[in-house]
Amino acid sequence: SKARMFDKETGVKVTFEDVAGLVEAKTELEEIVEFLRKPEKFTELGGKIPKGALLVGPPGTGKTLLAKAVAGEANVPFFSMSGSDFVEMFVGVGASRVRDLFKKAKEKAPCIVFIDEIDAIGRARGKNVNFSGNDERENTLNQLLTEMDGFATNSGVIILAATNRADVLDRALMRAGRFDRQISVELPDLNERKAIFEVHLRPLRLGDDVKSEFLARQTPGFSGADIANVCNESALIAARKGKKVVEKEDFLDAVDRIVGGLEKKNKIIS
Ligand code: ATP
Repeated sequence: SKARMFDKETGVKVTFEDVAGLVEAKTELEEIVEFLRKPEKFTELGGKIPKGALLVGPPGTGKTLLAKAVAGEANVPFFSMSGSDFVEMFVGVGASRVRDLFKKAKEKAPCIVFIDEIDAIGRARGKNVNFSGNDERENTLNQLLTEMDGFATNSGVIILAATNRADVLDRALMRAGRFDRQISVELPDLNERKAIFEVHLRPLRLGDDVKSEFLARQTPGFSGADIANVCNESALIAARKGKKVVEKEDFLDAVDRIVGGLEKKNKIIS
């Protein structure tokens, strides 16, 4: 099975501190952390804990990171799968994987189930009928809807899903009792880029001329993933030059390189 679990055993623990910026998204997700930590607080009053939330935003903006942070903050297991794993799959396999994933999740509740690229399975049904594998995709989507409806509201399984195409999703996914909350995860502004740089500069040995504010100004339009990339690339560039610290010029080289890569990607798309 593709379901992966991150918890204390595997030593992977992400918290909200690892997520820079995204204040509103974090505030909304805090509530889910509270549900996972103290479900009684809500259910005793007769409240129904939401089953899921949809994280919507461009690639590399921290959706996966946020989902892991929710699990980390609540100290619960994290199961994940990607919608793209289900493309071109043999008949019945997608649906049975979904069934397995939820079976495991229910056993380990409270926990988080994260579905990345949900649009790959969650596109509106009845479209793209010529697309090969469409039937299996629909089976997978139907199984997912069945699972979401099947477990009790207060079972302790919370499903977070991510997409950059909320517009193509099947409306059935957004119905009450399913992904009835949408959380927007946007590209970082200047201050957020500065904060993201600060997170990813932390592990690096830096020269005195490296300033997060300056780096943030050099990187408009960059996602958090691009910034993480810049930081790592700059360390590799400095190492290649045999340096003892990473300097501003290494960052500028790394930014150029990433910008070059992004331009190439855009050319292929357009
Ligand atoms: P995709 O849509 O491509 O799956 P995503 O939105 O799920 O992307 P992540 O996988 O969470 O993006 O981000 C990739 C990496 O980029 C993270 O592991 C982290 O290193 C870095 N990153 C992204 N956003 C942030 C952020 N807000 N703060 C700190 N690091 C970030």
